[in-house]
Amino acid sequence: MLHEPDAGLHRLDWRRRSLGGLRRIWRAGLDFLLPPRCLTCDAPSAEPDAVCPSCWGQMPFIEAPWCARYGTPLSFDLGPEGLSARAIASPPLFNRARAATLYGGPARDLVLALKFGGRREVAAPMGRLMAAAGRELFQPDTLVLPVPLHRTRLWQRRFNQAALLGQQVARIKGVGFEPLMLERRRRTRQQVGLHADERSRNVRGAFALRPEAAMKISGRPVVLVDDVLTTGSTVEACTRVLLRAGARQVDVLTFAIADPSLTAD
Ligand SMILES: [Zn+2]
Repeated sequence: MLHEPDAGLHRLDWRRRSLGGLRRIWRAGLDFLLPPRCLTCDAPSAEPDAVCPSCWGQMPFIEAPWCARYGTPLSFDLGPEGLSARAIASPPLFNRARAATLYGGPARDLVLALKFGGRREVAAPMGRLMAAAGRELFQPDTLVLPVPLHRTRLWQRRFNQAALLGQQVARIKGVGFEPLMLERRRRTRQQVGLHADERSRNVRGAFALRPEAAMKISGRPVVLVDDVLTTGSTVEACTRVLLRAGARQVDVLTFAIADPSLTAD
């Protein structure tokens, strides 16, 4: 009688092991039938949901030195507080922006796959790279807020790519994630193809905080998350709303930066 609980445990353990074994066989079978593919070039790859070594090598990662405010690469090392000409001429409302990559090559492919290809699985590796690129932005009481989509665009696209990225980043950093606090009240034109002044006019007054959000935001540091930072007019408009509600500081974390001094728009 005394050995019975032991035997029960043993049986459970045996069952668990055999289930695990079955799962491994099933997984190996799936991998055999559907070998994992690189998330950007679609070439067969060793790992699921990853970028192949060749695409990884072409990823335009942002490396130090970078501008302390805009996070854009600098050609000379001016120290940790070094600023780009742009940050000196027009300092942003937000504190710092950081990004993992420049917008180009396989990084652009990942952004487009998530945004327009509906491939949600790319959010996990993108979020990992963002969490690493933005490590200096997080404090224990940080709140992660994604840049919101207007509800009609959300309905068309079915998900907000910024919210998927923000969720990944917040989970990795172990901080609060609030996808519904900020709202896009006014439907704005796509920013693509607009000049800097048009972009800024396009989004002015487009964002608002839900009434119950102000209490939660007050005194807290906020990290705003989006997929790509271009002129920064969208995150500037969000920052204005958050600072007015008493956020302690607002930083910006995106997957990529399309440096307006390097690109046409
Ligand atoms: Zn590849």
